[in-house]
Amino acid sequence: MRLAASVSRLQTESAYEVLAKARALEAQGKRVIHLEIGEPDFPTPPHVVAAGKQALDEGWTKYGPTPGFPEFREAIAADVSRTRGITVAAENVCVVPGGKPIIFFTMMALLEPGDEVVYPNPSFPIYESMIRYLEAVPVPIPLVESRGFSFDLDTFRDRLSSKTRLVILNSPANPTGGVIPRDDLARMAAMLRERDVMVLSDEIYRRIWYETEPSSIASFEGMAGKTIILDGFSKTYAMTGWRLGYGVMPVWLANAVNMLTVNSNSCTASFTQRAGLAALTGPQDGVAAMVAEFRRRRDAIVKGLNEIPGFTCLSPSGAFYAFPNVTGTGMPSKALADLILNEAGVACLNGGSFGQYGDGYLRFSYANSLPNILEAMDRIRSISTRWH
Ligand code: PLP
Repeated sequence: MRLAASVSRLQTESAYEVLAKARALEAQGKRVIHLEIGEPDFPTPPHVVAAGKQALDEGWTKYGPTPGFPEFREAIAADVSRTRGITVAAENVCVVPGGKPIIFFTMMALLEPGDEVVYPNPSFPIYESMIRYLEAVPVPIPLVESRGFSFDLDTFRDRLSSKTRLVILNSPANPTGGVIPRDDLARMAAMLRERDVMVLSDEIYRRIWYETEPSSIASFEGMAGKTIILDGFSKTYAMTGWRLGYGVMPVWLANAVNMLTVNSNSCTASFTQRAGLAALTGPQDGVAAMVAEFRRRRDAIVKGLNEIPGFTCLSPSGAFYAFPNVTGTGMPSKALADLILNEAGVACLNGGSFGQYGDGYLRFSYANSLPNILEAMDRIRSISTRWH
């Protein structure tokens, strides 16, 4: 028996590989500080857990409608309308198990072999994985450190072609923590407005920002009808394991995504949607507290990273990742990540695992306690004689 060739074009997320290596060290009795994982270390807010439990008791344990429960889609539509300043109806909302299926389903629905996809590099590895899986053509745009890890807009313009079918944006971004400035979005919208392209705007980290609230490209004139907003509950409400996310898109595309849902997972778990409704419509103080704690950690990790010889680190504007430039160590970033894991017992990710332009950087997730972060910085500093 053989696998379909398309499967060999899929890529994985290196976080899972590093986690496995770290676990192997732990099995030998070493203590590893985990700064590789991209999930909030906070519990799901208690009122959301209570709503999930209540839903189970009330019998929300059966199949639900493919696109999601009407009440939940209405609540999402209202929230997205308010926060992005656009008019969204329930029929534009597809509820799916996590943010990731929106990448999978919309790209399946839009891309033919040979279609070009413009996307940031470094970025979430699943974008490029899906581009290659579908035999579309990856057109990576380097993120520029001196622009806070945004695109150079001349490069962006140059890479658009008559074959460009999809543009992927991610702000705040994984792995850099960069937020695309509103002015840049305005200029990109001006370049895209008249083109026959769609934009996948991955806004999964939208609520986790520190200085300036991120804008959505969907908010700019003429763009709502061309944009898929990806959002969900994993990061904002620390609900990674509940598997709950959504896409907001034009009805013609929502119909196709719903058809792919019928053909795959049928619907999203019913009780999970009830918990999501409570998250969206209930008190938001848990989100504010989480972001405040992330800010404290961000400030500590950026300071700590900048004190390590050979490292320089910008202060990220959003998400919970720091992305130091480590070219000053003179070591390839992959070898450096391995050394830091093996010798210092700190798990982080090679920037190059998010795309070639991420080489020379490391990604540290600060979804870990402040004492652990400070200890991790001490541990790395203590082995810096290895490269300094
Ligand atoms: N998009 C980005 C940029 C992410 O970093 C992640 C998760 O790490 C996702 C989407 C997927 O989120 P979910 O766990 O809700 O599928």
